[in-house]
Amino acid sequence: MDFDRIMIRYGEMALKGKNRRSFEQKLQSNIAIKLKSFPDTTIQKTQGRMYVLLNGEDPHEVMKECQEVFGIHSLSFAVKVEKEEEQMKEAALLAFRDARGAGSFKISSKRTDKSFPIPSQEINPLLGGFILRNTEGVKVDVHQPDVEIKVEVRHEGCYVTAQDYRGAGGLPVGTTGKSMLMLSGGIDSPVAGYLTMKRGVEIEAIHFHSPPYTSERAKQKVLDLAKELAKYGTRIKVHVIPFTAVQQKIYREMPEGYSMTIMRRMMMRISERVAANNEVLSITTGESLGQVASQTMESMNTINEVTNYPVIRPLVAMDKIEIIDISRRIGTYDISIRPFEDCCTVFVPKAPKTKPTRKNANYYESNVDFTEDIEKAIEDSYVIEATAEHSTDHTEEEFEDLL
Ligand code: ATP
Ligand code: MG
Repeated sequence: MDFDRIMIRYGEMALKGKNRRSFEQKLQSNIAIKLKSFPDTTIQKTQGRMYVLLNGEDPHEVMKECQEVFGIHSLSFAVKVEKEEEQMKEAALLAFRDARGAGSFKISSKRTDKSFPIPSQEINPLLGGFILRNTEGVKVDVHQPDVEIKVEVRHEGCYVTAQDYRGAGGLPVGTTGKSMLMLSGGIDSPVAGYLTMKRGVEIEAIHFHSPPYTSERAKQKVLDLAKELAKYGTRIKVHVIPFTAVQQKIYREMPEGYSMTIMRRMMMRISERVAANNEVLSITTGESLGQVASQTMESMNTINEVTNYPVIRPLVAMDKIEIIDISRRIGTYDISIRPFEDCCTVFVPKAPKTKPTRKNANYYESNVDFTEDIEKAIEDSYVIEATAEHSTDHTEEEFEDLL
């Protein structure tokens, strides 16, 4: 006997009415997309729960995939058997064994089908006794069991549910709007993207690159990061912005101490424009207070002046250690530490101003007109679609065709 389904619980939400429906629909379709490579699975929705029916697919492989889907609070393997003693016993033992190393257990049973002859207070010792006879060094503990096995006798059959596995938490991606993630090749911005997605936000990414100062491989690194992030959602549109001309002009014509600040302001302006063009209502960055010269309070204030879009900064109050921990856990760390040049490191001034002011930045920018350069960068930008399995080059139009 093996598990034939995974029970999915999505506890967090106290959602009502229409909200709840769209939440559930999104969750269901996100799970379905995630399980594309397990074509035999199907998803069944019941009141407040979902089941992935395995139809012969490997339970543990499918569980691993489901655990990465936001909006799921916890999951358990389960099996449906006939309302028949022997099968119920085998199922209970299977459920116990799923909790490897558990020393104690408790059986909680519920009988909604009253035509079933054994009342629930007799089901517990019946199945519990079977587990005890077939294991060693295991005991029943009704107060603090290592694992609770749930048995439900319903009209259509008996369901036996094993221990809880932790879900990714958060909200289903796509239920709380869209954000434009400024994605560099560093450690921070992918983590920022992940945390924003966790709150149900769908991400598009924007990346500034400066060929030939930055290589194709540097761009590939960013696409690989986007692919990694796509595992937690559906797919990610990456807007690649050719930034060389803007950067060269900054380098040539702006005072060196302000080149970093002004470069960031240009990035922010372009990001807002691309967001607006794509009906995206906010911008997400990997900024964290105090990490580097561009991330002082003065710097954030000066950079933020150029947009009135909400800027989501999930890492703003996090330590580097915490950020690295998350990046390792979500699988972006090893990609982020690949040693490829970033457009910002190529043009980075020797002594960037750590306390820039809006007044000075505006003054310097007023001497040089960047309008056309910004326009051109947006015009020459292109979109690459990153999905968990692959990423392919598409122009904006081709991408629309795919939708
Ligand atoms: P990261 O680890 O994400 O690169 P960082 O600590 O290196 O961040 P900065 O270089 O100051 O910090 O960049 C701050 C934020 O600006 C990044 O987290 C990212 O959101 C954005 N950013 C920086 N460079 C780029 C780029 N080339 N393309 C898109 N966004 C960028
Ligand atoms: Mg960086």
